[in-house]
Amino acid sequence: MEFIKNYLAVRKTIPENVMLIAVSKFSPFETILTLYNETGHSLFGESRAQELALKQAQLPVGISWHFIGHLQTNKIKLLLAHTSLIQSVDSYRLLKEINRESAQLDKVTDVLLQFHVATEETKFGLSKDETVEMIMDKEFNTLQNIKLKGVMGMASFTDDHSLVRKEFKTLRRLFEELRRDYFASDASFSEVSMGMSSDYTLAIEEGSTMVRIGSLIFGER
Ligand SMILES: *Cc1c(COP(=O)(O)O)cnc(C)c1O
Repeated sequence: MEFIKNYLAVRKTIPENVMLIAVSKFSPFETILTLYNETGHSLFGESRAQELALKQAQLPVGISWHFIGHLQTNKIKLLLAHTSLIQSVDSYRLLKEINRESAQLDKVTDVLLQFHVATEETKFGLSKDETVEMIMDKEFNTLQNIKLKGVMGMASFTDDHSLVRKEFKTLRRLFEELRRDYFASDASFSEVSMGMSSDYTLAIEEGSTMVRIGSLIFGER
């Protein structure tokens, strides 16, 4: 099966200390199950809440699911019981809602803050200023039901490698500044999720700890 070969080839190029998230959006259940059974790969990423919830509920419990898409507040409840990490928290409002819904389920939800580092207008994400303002807000420290594990971002969709590299450097630097200034005593603020099929090698060179790879494994969507 092509996707098994693809997966093994990709796997070989990723260092031990970098997590590989197989982005399975639009891939059928059977494909995911086969990859899991044949290779033991157990970490998948989905960008729609409904799809993630359905897949998680029907596939083996040994599989973990990261949510990587734009999350609408009305989908939080649906998602929470099914995901181990929400990578795409792109507003304070969303963070507070995730906290509120998590409290109702009596759980702590791991999240990453998504930053806007690309030149494209359309990509979602926070700025450094917005993030600092959020951290300084008096309500921020009362959010007991979310755990900030790091940052996530997407580079511009372009062949210009120097631009992509620059954006990854920006994200890594942002992470380091936040860690130094606000999370120095919190060892779990440690993840930098960056790199997709077309740019993950650059992302790893620039300090990614998690790459999110879809089409290189499962084929073009
Ligand atoms: C779809 C998606 C990916 C994977 O993209 P590929 O180019 O197929 O590897 C990674 N991150 C996010 C946020 C995505 O939506």
